[in-house]
Amino acid sequence: MSSNDVREVIVIGGAAAGYTAALYAARANMNPLVIESVNWGGQLMITSDVENYPGYPAGILGPEMMQDFRRQAERFGAEFVTDDVTKVDFSERPFRVWVGDDEYRAESVIVATGANARQLGLPSERSLQGRGVSYCAVCDAAFFRDKDVVVVGGGDSAMEEATFLAKFASKVTLVHRRDLFRASPIMVDRARATEKIEFVLDSVVEEVLGDGLVAGVVVRNVKTDERTEIPAEGLFVAIGHDPTTELFKGQLDTDPDTGYLITKSRTTETNVPGVFAAGDVQDDVYRQAVTAAGSGCMAALDSERWLAAERGRLLDALTAPRA
Ligand code: NAP
Repeated sequence: MSSNDVREVIVIGGAAAGYTAALYAARANMNPLVIESVNWGGQLMITSDVENYPGYPAGILGPEMMQDFRRQAERFGAEFVTDDVTKVDFSERPFRVWVGDDEYRAESVIVATGANARQLGLPSERSLQGRGVSYCAVCDAAFFRDKDVVVVGGGDSAMEEATFLAKFASKVTLVHRRDLFRASPIMVDRARATEKIEFVLDSVVEEVLGDGLVAGVVVRNVKTDERTEIPAEGLFVAIGHDPTTELFKGQLDTDPDTGYLITKSRTTETNVPGVFAAGDVQDDVYRQAVTAAGSGCMAALDSERWLAAERGRLLDALTAPRA
């Protein structure tokens, strides 16, 4: 198919939500094109073992799981462009999606561009990702049973992750760059009331220590400049997420507080009929691979039903008796 043909559906984003949407759309004979990005796989590519995805009783490596997702969609005919979308135009149908100079058109679009966990930006953090550096306590806490861990952040996520980790770890050190918290007081109180959690305030992590596996962090007190080493086998970075929505600014509605795409209650519909959103780009609450996959499935079903209804309306209009 040339890029000038109009597809039934284009999926933007290749990770849990996008590949699941593609799988369902392919099995509905919608011939989906997935523009998956050069960084396909999303957050699971910086995860090691995934033990909470149903169907993998022995666990699976995040990147391997994403390859499985992709292969399964491909098996039913999904096609892929391994590149980044550079522009979209959802102002009229068919919708238009560009990758550089290449233009793709579709009657419906599923946006599944995900959200990125914010990183501290340290080279040592990057090299130890999946080797003790994690961005998801729900996913990885169980690997740190009876081990010392550090959590970075002062928001609700950091409080929640520290409190959750305290159920497994022997000690949780929460490092925050200020002495005031962005988190709601109740979440701070809960963390403070948890014996295993120790607070290190006015401090930033300067380096993650460890040769192959995390062994500790170096923190610097921003008021005194004093540096301290905290031994730990895990570092949980909980400093927020950024949904990947830049491409859709001015076209798709986003939540003014969080920046996430807005979908209508109980569906994946955005403010543009025919454009659907699935996965972490529209979910600031659950952010799990399994919930992303679930909403990818919903988006494919929504898109299929919407297209069928549109065609029904078109047929009705064409066959209606003339006045
Ligand atoms: P957040 O509220 O944006 O907080 C991010 C925290 O990370 C802030 O304390 C910030 O410090 C710190 N931070 C940011 N960049 C940093 C950096 N480079 N180095 C060190 N620290 C850095 O993000 P969030 O905690 O993920 O929460 C996001 C939203 O979800 C919020 O609306 C929150 O209420 C909600 N949420 C709710 C619950 C719940 O109710 N159960 C649980 C989780 C999240 P500063 O404060 O100094 O800026």
